[in-house]
Formats: sequence, structure tokens, C-alpha cells
Amino acid sequence: MNRYVLGNYGRFPVAFARGEGVWLWSEEGRRYLDFSSGVAVCSLGHSPQVMVEALAAQAAELIHCSNLYWVRQQAELARFVVETMMERPGKAFFCNSGAEANDGLIKLARKRAWEKYGAESGKNVVVTCRQSFHGRTLGGIAATGQEKVKVGFDPLLPGFLHMPFNDPATLREAVTEKTAAILFEPVQGEGGIHVATPEFFAEAARLRDEFDLLLMFDEVQCGAGRTGDWCGWRTVLAGSGAAVEPDAVSWAKGFAGGFPMGALWVADEHAAAMGPGTHGSTFGGTPLACAVALAVLGEIGDGGVLANVKRQESRIREAVATWDFPVLSELRGVGLMLGFVLDAQAMADVPGFAASGKTPSIFVVNAAREAGLLTVPAGETVVRWLPPLNVTDAEVDEALAVFHGVLSTLSGR
Ligand SMILES: *Cc1c(COP(=O)(O)O)cnc(C)c1O
Repeated sequence: MNRYVLGNYGRFPVAFARGEGVWLWSEEGRRYLDFSSGVAVCSLGHSPQVMVEALAAQAAELIHCSNLYWVRQQAELARFVVETMMERPGKAFFCNSGAEANDGLIKLARKRAWEKYGAESGKNVVVTCRQSFHGRTLGGIAATGQEKVKVGFDPLLPGFLHMPFNDPATLREAVTEKTAAILFEPVQGEGGIHVATPEFFAEAARLRDEFDLLLMFDEVQCGAGRTGDWCGWRTVLAGSGAAVEPDAVSWAKGFAGGFPMGALWVADEHAAAMGPGTHGSTFGGTPLACAVALAVLGEIGDGGVLANVKRQESRIREAVATWDFPVLSELRGVGLMLGFVLDAQAMADVPGFAASGKTPSIFVVNAAREAGLLTVPAGETVVRWLPPLNVTDAEVDEALAVFHGVLSTLSGR
């Protein structure tokens, strides 16, 4: 790989040959419990029957035909997004990744403001948050609130402001007549599993009304069932008394269970900004991609999967609440998007940690992998659990036992 594949990824030293449900087998034949799910992608686990069948059946009928023509599967998937997931009048657009979906949102916000207020208004600024992640395209890195994705790629796309997450007062200071949109993740994923507060949602919604801007949610990681509800923000706001709804939403990752697909939804009143010729994607919304997404989302909706997410979250929280490790300071997150926050100071006492030169998160992810459990680092001090949404009691119990064992060993017990 190092000879022929571009070296843009830091990779863990294992290659997988086969997957089934929550299990992966390496080329050497070792079995791993996969609580990374391809980073929140394999919502129903590896090679689920429903996907295998939908892929085979649709591939035999029609794989690709271009957006020059009507695409029945696109219409059916869009109806599912509008009626079942959003339950609000709107329109969907399909693409191939999360970054692309966010590029679509940014173009939508600018075009809508341009049409309504004119170019001279300068209403084209998109306000996003620090520690956010919105993808690796030029639009995505400009929107992302982390220096590390931007270094060396100047000149960046202008027109972005990054404000502290969950700070309503500074958000208000940042917004002006020139703001076309506010874009944030209801649950920040790559930034370390930070959940947006009801106060932050409420202030963003007030600013939307005062400044006639679009409120847009990046649900690429936290959407499509990961939180135990179709809409991550609704899970986050449940019980808070605040009911904030966005003007536009982006999805990808788990949306089609591992088939590469991104999507966006925009409320009907703003959809006209993206008329014929304004945007497009050769591969966006093929019959194959849409049929697979529909099968995956259908299974999530019908199979008691959303209820399972909440149930397994409670089981994990209950178990972890009884753990007492100095290296573990907190369990954060919503649904099956959970972050184990490591205590950097306590980690310094772990034998071998200082000499490893690794961040706490990578050190613990490595230890868990060696023990047979795959997890994902988020920033320097958070280890993410992103199991399939249909993970069983027994699989969760096994992951809890393995991870408990890893933290015990690191704590010298
Ligand atoms: C992963 C991610 C993206 C980027 O998705 P890609 O499919 O890698 O382009 C964007 N936003 C969020 C919140 C993500 O987690």
C-alpha cells in the first residue's frame, strides 16, 4: 500500500477480509468486535441480508441511468426522507458523501440569499462552530472549525466564521445582515462527541427569525437513526421544552448503511433557490444507491432498531456508571454515538503511555484493538463507540467486558 496508495491516511495495522453483523475477520483470521462500524457508517452491521438482497436485486434491474431522466427510486427515497424522517414538507437531493452534502447546503444558503437580497447585499456568510467537522472538500474545510484540516490549502473559500460551540452570546455577536446561514452538528462527532445545548439551539432559531438566515444541521454522523430517532436534534431536544426545527439538513455516513451516499433536505419554502442547472452530481441518486438506502432506512424504521439504540445506550450507561477508573473521566453522547473521555493526567501514569508518543485516545484505541474491540478516536482524549444500530445485548455485554478489561489493565489492576 505504501508503494502504490497515496499516504494521506494514518492507518491502524490490520486489514479485514470479511464482515458479518458486528464482527470483522482480519486477513490473518482473527475475529474483532466492531464498535467503529466504518465510523458510524454500517448502521445495520457488516453485509446485512437486507442490503445484500437490495443490491443484488437492483443491480440486476438497473444500476445507473443519469439525472437526465426521471428516477423512480430517487422519488421513493425522497418521499421517505420527507414523510418518514423529517415529517415536514420539503425536498431532498442525493449525492455521494457528507462533504458533498454540506457543499450543497452552503450553495443553497448562498443562492437563496442572493436571489432574495441581491449580490450587493453581501449576504453570503456561513457561521459554523469551532471543533466542528464538515468534510474535506474545499467547502467542507472552509466550514470546518479545526485548523488541522486547513493547513497548506490556502486560499480557502471565503465567507465563513467559526464561533465557540454552545455559546449563545458569541453566536449572537457573530450574526449580522450578511449572514446567510448558521450550520452546526447537533452532536459534534470528530470534535469529541459534544452535544449541542437547548439554549444554543434556541438562540440559533431566534437569530434565524431575526436575520432571515437558514438554520442548517449537519447530521452526517448523528443522523439517520444513530441517536435513536431519525433526527438527532429531536433526540437532543427531547424533554428540554425547546422545539427547534432546521431549514435544511445534510446526511451521509450511515444513511445507506455503507453504500456511498449523501443527502440533503431543504424546507419547501427555500427549495426554489436550487432550480434546473444550479447543482448536480453524475452519480447522485442512482437507482442502485437509492434502492439500497431505501432498504436500509426501511429496516431501521421497521425493525425496532431505533428503540434498540435507546435501550443499548441505557445498558451501556448503566454499566459504565459502576466503573471507577482514574483514566476515565466521563461518558458523553447520545444514542449509540458515545464518547469515553480520558483523563490526560491519569493517562500519564499508565505504563508505556509516555514512551509511546501517542495521544491518549489512540493509545486506548490501540489497546482495545489488541484486545479484539474496534473503536474510533475523536480528538486527543475521546474514544468513540459507534456500534451498529441493531447491536444485541450479548454483543454490548461483550464490548463492555473487553473495554472494562482494557481500562483495568491500563490502571494496573
Ligand atoms: C464524516 C463527516 C463529514 C464528511 O463526510 P464524508 O462522507 O467523509 O465527506 C461531514 N460532517 C460530519 C459531521 C461528519 O461526521
